[in-house]
Amino acid sequence: MFVCMAFVKTSLGLKMERILNFIAGQSVPPSRNEYLDKFDPRSGLKQSEVADSGAADVDAAVASSVAAQPHWADMRPSARGRILVEMARRVRDSVERLGSLERAETGKPGREMAQLMDLTAQYFEYYGGIVNSMDGEIINAGADYHVYTRRDPFGVVGVILPWNAPLHQAARAIAPALATGNAVVAKPSEFTSASLVELARLAIECGLPPGILNVVVGTGPKLGPALVDNLDIGKISFTGSVRAGKELGRLAAERILPLTLELGGKSANIVFDDANIEAAAKGCATGFTWNAGQWCAAGTRLLVQEDIHDEFVARLVDHVSALDVGPGDETSYGAITTQAQYERIKAYFEIAKQDGLTPLIGGEAGLEKDGGKGWFISPTVYVDVTNQMRIAREEIFGPVLCVIRFRDEQEAIAIANDSDYGLAAGIWTRDVSRVHRVARRLDAGRILVNEYSGGFVQTPCGGFKQSGYGREQGVEALAHYTQLKSVIIRL
Ligand code: NAD
Repeated sequence: MFVCMAFVKTSLGLKMERILNFIAGQSVPPSRNEYLDKFDPRSGLKQSEVADSGAADVDAAVASSVAAQPHWADMRPSARGRILVEMARRVRDSVERLGSLERAETGKPGREMAQLMDLTAQYFEYYGGIVNSMDGEIINAGADYHVYTRRDPFGVVGVILPWNAPLHQAARAIAPALATGNAVVAKPSEFTSASLVELARLAIECGLPPGILNVVVGTGPKLGPALVDNLDIGKISFTGSVRAGKELGRLAAERILPLTLELGGKSANIVFDDANIEAAAKGCATGFTWNAGQWCAAGTRLLVQEDIHDEFVARLVDHVSALDVGPGDETSYGAITTQAQYERIKAYFEIAKQDGLTPLIGGEAGLEKDGGKGWFISPTVYVDVTNQMRIAREEIFGPVLCVIRFRDEQEAIAIANDSDYGLAAGIWTRDVSRVHRVARRLDAGRILVNEYSGGFVQTPCGGFKQSGYGREQGVEALAHYTQLKSVIIRL
């Protein structure tokens, strides 16, 4: 009998040793018994080992899901919903444990962790409730016919996840997939697997049948193709980079496997000269630094109308200066979760330098901790950026802001839309007509007005252009985890 994680006490507190797969209600080691090293983002030191699973592990997980799913789909929606609501309750009861596992792997501070755990629970509450109102419709085809539509599950859904908000992203896809009668084989990021493995274990205690939520731990290049190749997988929900999304899309096209792709962003946050400057400065500072900028919808292109530019930037810098970064529980924000990402952000400092830019604030990297060096980046603001520079065009995925000037509304819209991405956009203005006019013309899946936040579990989330297709969150997600069927009966 294996446990999902073995714990040993160290001078640093609880330390994870090995994170295993969770298949058919059991913790199981990867079939080849191979493991990857995992490092603590706050110190750069080795922290744990995680299963380096392969296709055989995916196939075992899918087989157990195939066996369990028909019964799950046949249950009354209200019965499935009750189990999801119980999972929400268990997340809330286990915030300390789930949060500490996730904090250890991501390097986030406590405040951000608490927000994300609350949202995680909200997904299970929300989909546990609205699954009861998911219906087809009756179509009037004349007196000789009874015609209706129904929404049936795909069967087994693969869910591939990033590391930036592990359990939150997982719940966002898993809750609607389960609610609609699918079983799920989830592949968390190899850098942040522990909290999802633990949630799958807790779900069994909540009454979720074994096999309905399996977790296979390992790398994307191995497990992504294995999920696509398994013909019992009926759909994949992928959240991650454009690069990996494209690779997955190419493979999936070979067998017409439906995908939801939630990819990256380079979102424009537009501040007009009639905005509440103080509220906008504070909101825009949070908009690019929340979660250390490791947020797909982060407002990293800040478009400021030229007549308020200097005053606005001064106030923004005041707010940014007040942020503290570090390994503590109460800091404004924490570490960059992976070393590769940390190095990538630093490389963009060099790219900006080559474009003749010097940061107005920030540009520092690394913090000493426990004899190691943690992956921390100070919040960094560049001004006089043009929208053609690489730092304005490419997703950096760190706390790095590009400030771009604009003259008028038309130019602001043109700059905002001149991007390969289209995940989110912000508008700061007191002019209500302008809000609607600009919101209509922006090419982005989420428009945030006079606040730059993550939205709600009820609001659909997804991208325009290379930010992806399909939608997570909201009622819309139910449609993306089901297949629509017409039933035509000659009376
Ligand atoms: P990533 O693409 O490197 O990895 C995401 C997941 O895909 C991981 O589980 C990884 O193991 C897997 N993967 C990697 N290569 C793969 C392949 N060839 N085939 C299948 N799976 C593969 O992304 P990341 O670095 O973990 O996360 C950051 C990215 O995620 C950013 O671009 C961010 O904007 C995006 N993101 C998007 C949303 C959204 O809702 N749109 C939310 C969070 C993060």
